[in-house]
Amino acid sequence: TYKQMDSFKWLLNKAYVNGKWISAENGETFEVTNPATGEVLGSVPDMNGSDTESAIKTAYVAFRSWKERTAKERSELMLRWTNLCNAHKEDLAKLITMENGKPLKDSMAELSYGVGFLELYAEEAKRVYGDIIPTNAKSRRLLVLKQPIGVCGMITPWNFPHAMITRKAAAAIAAGCSVVIKPAEDTPLSALALCQLAEEAGLPAGVLNVVTVSRDNAPDVGRTLCESPLVQHISFTGSSAVGKCLLSQSASTVKKTAMELGGNAPFLVFESADLEAAVKGVIACKFRCSGQTCVSANRIYVQEGIYDKFVTRLAEEMDNELRTGDGLQPGTTQGPLINQRAVQKIDSFVQDAIQHGARLVRGGSKGQGNFYYPTLLSEVTSQMMCAREEIFGPIAGVLRFKTEDEAVIMANDTQWGLAGYLFSRDHSQIWRVTERLEAGIVGVNEGVVPCPEVPLGGWKESGLGREGGKYGIDEFLELKYVCMGGL
Ligand code: ADP
Repeated sequence: TYKQMDSFKWLLNKAYVNGKWISAENGETFEVTNPATGEVLGSVPDMNGSDTESAIKTAYVAFRSWKERTAKERSELMLRWTNLCNAHKEDLAKLITMENGKPLKDSMAELSYGVGFLELYAEEAKRVYGDIIPTNAKSRRLLVLKQPIGVCGMITPWNFPHAMITRKAAAAIAAGCSVVIKPAEDTPLSALALCQLAEEAGLPAGVLNVVTVSRDNAPDVGRTLCESPLVQHISFTGSSAVGKCLLSQSASTVKKTAMELGGNAPFLVFESADLEAAVKGVIACKFRCSGQTCVSANRIYVQEGIYDKFVTRLAEEMDNELRTGDGLQPGTTQGPLINQRAVQKIDSFVQDAIQHGARLVRGGSKGQGNFYYPTLLSEVTSQMMCAREEIFGPIAGVLRFKTEDEAVIMANDTQWGLAGYLFSRDHSQIWRVTERLEAGIVGVNEGVVPCPEVPLGGWKESGLGREGGKYGIDEFLELKYVCMGGL
């Protein structure tokens, strides 16, 4: 169990602010449970707006000295942090599996991805170049400086308890910012483990702060971060409803924001595709982390000529590849959903689809506790809930299309635009469709495309800004135009 994990046992019951392991001012706590077993893993402080105010003040003080360090110093500390995370990879992965439920293999993949951001931004810290612009007058020189924006507030989701923190915080810290993070209430332990390793690496007090907060206190803490004049940037990954709320709260202080919100990813399989590759692509894209990723395939469109064969092959591959169980057991590919709220939502989508004429090919039932069996529905139509809303669970709903034009129009017929996928071997078709898809991320003949080196983010209502790669650090930098006159 968690308590037996040598490296992290002393984290229990505390949050991390100003380089100290602390309780909430009022002493309140909340429990963290394993979604696979219901076991209580531990308790963490239930902090509120007032605790968050203190953390922000601390971060502001830390920011003033952190930004004065040289890029190389920041880079070296971050590389040490990277190495420590690598050294504790197995334990960090187990921790993810225990609080999130995803299979150990997926947790290890998350670790590689997440630590990849630490490494990348440790390197990028040294590459924040300004510009010298050709002058418009002999007596002047025109320069552009890039400087860290300030204290950054971050609110992160439970589906990638480690990587969604490193993706944001590593970029901000590399830029010279300090951060106050509110991790999801389901998965605060991975965030705290990252703090422990940052402390061991020698990151100065107050640069990285984690306030742990229950669902009940989340609105208060969110508002405090968004409305504080000391916070200059808000970065959020989560549902569109919460993102819109944070965006409007941030308006009061004209904060820069980065929002990665919901998706409704289309996955197009053309008659020109390698059908076996497309089936494997769906297994990876749809069922990784039980479909609980922002870029999971949500609407699988298959061209009519290969529709029946595709559904048959996908069902067979699901039988062969997917094993539901406790994520710590070897061989498990499908862990539990995060909580009962998620199970109820998934089940209502399946019932809605069946009532409206979809055919249940596999699954469609709840298991014990938070488990839901991988489900395949064919004859899905655009009106069904599972095609209109983000599923965030293990339902593969397959829709039918006739022409390329029709497929693209249906794919784009949504307010979201995070990811899109297409499988085809026709090169002109690949270019045509890729360019027409309204999405920030496109996978061509690939089901799993995110990696630390690339810009990740959405079009339309799926978000603002980009995380990852060289683009991700710009989020946390302000430009300063300097006109040097009298020369
Ligand atoms: P989900 O429904 O998948 O949990 P959310 O968008 O609700 O997605 O959660 C993402 C993050 O947003 C979590 O850290 C959660 O605690 C936080 N959150 C939820 N509601 C609010 C709110 N009103 N204000 C600020 N943060 C919130």
